[in-house]
Parts: sequence; C-alpha cells; structure tokens
Amino acid sequence: MLNRGKIVEMVTLEIKGKKIDIEKGDSITSVIDRLDPKGRDQIVGVLIDDNFHDFHTPITSPGKVEFVTVQSKQGLDALRHSTSHVLAGAVRHLFPGVKLAIGPAIKNGYYYDFDFPEPITAQDIEKIEKEMAKIIEEDQRFKRIAKNRDEAIEYFTELNEPYKVELIRDLDKEAEISFYQNGDFVDLCRGPHLPSTGYIKAFKLLNLAGAYWRGDERNPMLTRIYGTAFYDGKELRSYLKQIEEAKKRDHRKLGKELELFSLHEEGPGFVFWLPHGIIVRNGLLDFWREEHRKAGYVEVSTPILLRKELWVRSGHWDNYKENMYITEIDENPFAIKPMNCPGGMLIYGEKIHSYRDFPMRVAEVGLVHRHEKSGVLQGLFRVRSFTQDDAHIFLLPSQIEAEILNVIQLTDRIYSVFGFDYYLELSTRPEKSIGTDEQWQLATEGLENALKKSGKKYSVSPGEGAFYGPKIDFHLEDCLGRLHQCATIQLDMAFPERFDLTYINSEGKEERPVVVHRTVLGSIERFIGILIEHYAGRFPLWLAPVQVAVLSITDAHAGRVEEMVDMLFQEGFRVIADTRNEKLGYKMREAEVKKIPYIAVIGDKELENDTLSIRHGGGKNIDSLKPESFLALLKEEECSRK
Ligand SMILES: [Zn+2]
Ligand SMILES: [Zn+2]
Repeated sequence: MLNRGKIVEMVTLEIKGKKIDIEKGDSITSVIDRLDPKGRDQIVGVLIDDNFHDFHTPITSPGKVEFVTVQSKQGLDALRHSTSHVLAGAVRHLFPGVKLAIGPAIKNGYYYDFDFPEPITAQDIEKIEKEMAKIIEEDQRFKRIAKNRDEAIEYFTELNEPYKVELIRDLDKEAEISFYQNGDFVDLCRGPHLPSTGYIKAFKLLNLAGAYWRGDERNPMLTRIYGTAFYDGKELRSYLKQIEEAKKRDHRKLGKELELFSLHEEGPGFVFWLPHGIIVRNGLLDFWREEHRKAGYVEVSTPILLRKELWVRSGHWDNYKENMYITEIDENPFAIKPMNCPGGMLIYGEKIHSYRDFPMRVAEVGLVHRHEKSGVLQGLFRVRSFTQDDAHIFLLPSQIEAEILNVIQLTDRIYSVFGFDYYLELSTRPEKSIGTDEQWQLATEGLENALKKSGKKYSVSPGEGAFYGPKIDFHLEDCLGRLHQCATIQLDMAFPERFDLTYINSEGKEERPVVVHRTVLGSIERFIGILIEHYAGRFPLWLAPVQVAVLSITDAHAGRVEEMVDMLFQEGFRVIADTRNEKLGYKMREAEVKKIPYIAVIGDKELENDTLSIRHGGGKNIDSLKPESFLALLKEEECSRK
C-alpha cells in the first residue's frame, strides 16, 4: 500500500472474530475509534495475544485482541503505575533537585523511589497529594516518545538524573527506549499507562520508607513513597479501612500488649515466648497432637545439630548451605537442621520395614533454623528459628491417592476449627527434574485425584513443582482476605534413593517406598502470628491465656470472688480475680483490654442469689448464671473448641 509516497506495512488484528487491518506502528486508539465499542470509557488498553498494549504503544505484529477494562487486574495495574508517574511529577514540581529512581505498580498499589536533597516529612505528603490532585484534575494525556540510547542518556544527563542514566546503560544497546510524558513530566518507562490522568478517580499516599537503590545495601538509601489508587472512591475507602483494621490487628503490636511473645536485639529473628504465648502454643499443639493421634500418626523427635556428612547426603550442603548455621564439635563440622527430613530418614533406616507397615505416618514437631537476611525479618511471620509441624509418610505407590486425601482431610479438620477458608494449588513437574515419566505420572495423578475427591477448589501451576516431586500447597485466607501459605504436601522421589530406603514387598523383595513430606500449620510461630491477627487478639476460650476474670463490686464481695476463682481453677480453667478497690467500670475495661473471653461480676444481688453476672468479652451480656451452669458452659465451649 502506498501512503505519502512511502510503502506502508499493514498488520491484521482479530477482534471478536472480526479482522481489522491497521498500519504497522499505529496504536490501538484508531481501532477503538473505528469500532466505538460499548463501555468505551471503561477501556484502558488491549491484550494482543496476552501482551498488554496501552493506547500509546505502537502495534507491530498481528494477533487476537481483547479489551482491557478498568475492572481487570491489568487495568488496575495500569492505573496504579500511572499514578506513580503523577506522584513523581508532583514531587518534581515541589522539590527542585530531587533525583528519581523507579516507580512500579505493586500488589495493592504502587511506590516511587526518590533521592531528596533534604529528608521529607509527613506534612510534605499532604502537599504532594494536593499537587497530584491538580495533575489529575488537568486530565493530562500520556504521550509516548521513542528515543535511541544516546539521546536518552543525554536527556537524563542534562536533567541530572543519575539513576535514570544508570537504568538506560543497563538496557540492550540496540533497543528503542520509550519515554512517557504527561504535562511537563517525562519519565523513562516501558508502560503501560492510562489514556490520561483523569482516569485516576481515587488515590492516596500511604507511607514513607527507606529503600536502597536496587535493593543493595552498598548503594545510597532512597526515600520510598507508597500509595494506592482505585477507579472509584468507595473502593479506596474500603481498602483504607482494611489497612486500618490490619494495623489494629498487627500481631507485633498485640503480641506486646497481650504479653504473648517478645523479640530482642540479642537474638534477631529468634522468638522469646512469654507465659501467655506458651499457653496459646501448648493449646494449639495439644489440639494438633489429638488430631494426629486420631489420624494414625506416631511422633518422633530428632536432634537439632547433626554432622556435615548427613547434610551432604541429603543435598542440603550443596543446595542450601547459605541458609544453614554451621559449627564444629571436636573439630568435626556440624550443621543446625534447617529441616527435619534427614533425621527422619535416619530413623526409618534403623529397621527393616514391610509393606504391611504402610502407610507409616511419622510426625515431628521440630525446631529448625534458617538464615534470613536481617532486613526481611518480620515479627512471627519471618523469623530465623521456628517450629515445623512436620510428618513423613512412607507408603506404597498404590496408596498415594488415598493417603493424600487423608492428609487433605486432616488439614481441613484442623483449619475449620479456626474458621479459615483456603484454596489448594497443585504444582506439577518442572523442566529440570529427577525420576521417570512413569513415576511423575503416577505421583501427579495421585495428587490430582485426591484433590478431586476432596471436593475442594484447587488450581494447577504447571511446572512449579520441586525437582524431586509434585506438591500441593494450601493458601489460607484470613478474616481480612489476606492469603498465607501454610500447609504443604510434597511427594519425594529423591530421598528414598539418597538414603537408600527400602521395604520388603509382598513377594519378599526389597523396594523403594514413596516418601511424603507434609506440614499442616507450617511454622507454628507464623501460624500463631496469623491467629493473633485473625482473632484480633481475642482468642477463643480454648486458646485464651486467661479465660475468666472474676470481679468484685465492693470489698464485701471479695471473699466470694476468691471462692469462685478457686473453684474454676480447681476445674482446670485459667482464671484471675480482681478484688481491687476500684470502680467496676474501670475493672471491666481492664479485663476487656486483655481480651478475656468471660468476665464474671459478683455484687450484693449475686451474693444473695448465689449467682454470677456473666459478660462475654467483646460486649455481650449473658445474664445471671448459677456457678454450676457457668462451669458447664465453660466446659462445653472449651471441649468443642468453638
Ligand atoms: Zn510508566
Ligand atoms: Zn521432610
């Protein structure tokens, strides 16, 4: 085709079954103009064969086109990333001499890293937000500008933007480099972006943090401004509410207030459990042991410190050494276990096993240590030492499906007590793997059939399994809708070889067993962190560090309070008396702050009628009860773990 005297190449796009030709290098805007589809103002770009093209990207190859709307994940990412440009533009207006680094969209928002000449404060954040609002108000169009490498370097050198220059120097020498401009602000960027800043309907800057340039502590420390954005104000408000709620529930804050655990400089990443925390932990483990006993597990305990040779044999020495703490005993190298497995394999190897012993379920609640960088440590969520509720199951290949189903059901029983919702993910054979096709097929089918039989929702992640076997992960959803990966079921075809594990089959011949590694809680430390946030510190009766507080109204009732406390204590409950000469309201509030499930009050009326005035922690009054009725209620609630 001829156009202005030059040869024009055409590209064919397919949109909803219709074929449309456009000039190569044109953007999608002309196509949308031609089609004028319904809900056009909701469209912020297109997917061409699954690659996001915004309204500004030149189209160079044919493909199938799908519209990207503001409701989609890609649409939201484009919104948030575009808002980071608006943030950077506003900062440039307000702080001459600031140097810009990068500003990507992230989960729930975006950030931008700046090198400010002077540190900024919380008041500055408000100023920046006002400036951003102006830029959005002006509904500035995003324009794409292409430059070659030399032009790009020259441009940013003149602007005194050393971080941008460094980024460009790292790009492919021949690559065309794209810039995006809105108003007077130009940034180096690959895109995609919104058509214009007016699409940003609701945004907020959230907080400031320090971040090393390129995440490397040898580089300068930059200021990271975090923010979020939505296409609608209602969604922003509900998100901000959720953050507020999450802050209130932060397990580090509640852990301190409720005296559950502490952390000290003397042991970064190593948790100190306080008396109240130990009650929760023991309660959780008692429940765990009860369920495992019923499910046919036995329990072992293996040493924390084991010889180097064992770790060489297990493969940890070659593949995991950077995460292990190593020491010496009598001049021989030893390592602290990062996993319980090798010790478990040694126990299996102590005896000759028969197929009749299978499935053999051996649990271990084992303390493991793994080195984490100090910067990533976070309360109970990221630690350097934690307790894993492991188990190794030895079984026949024919038992895979049934046994995996058992594990799923056991995990379900344990999670349902806490009211957790979860979804399952099956990860299959990766490119690099050991084992035969037949072994992988048997293993993967076994897991998938068990998933189907469980009736639970699951997704498949192809190629995401470990090199030694497929796995199932449980992604647990807490009450704020956040996901935590806890339980995992992992099939292992490597360990039986490495540890030369065998059993005697029905024909009297030696064979290799199938090994399953699994955890339900994952890290007990992390699981308790999740529980603290899930319950906002208000543990159910069976886990509550203090279950009942008995309060007197005046000194005249103190004797009866002591009697009641003694009775409940003898019955095995965790109970405290409050007979201080303080106002009842004050004592109630204090018990309330401690999030004690039951508050019992004794005054004249209760003394006379031989009753207790019971209030459920959290506000609900439950009238008067005779001591024996209250005791029965407590027993029932504790037993049922409601
Ligand atoms: Zn951008
Ligand atoms: Zn294991």
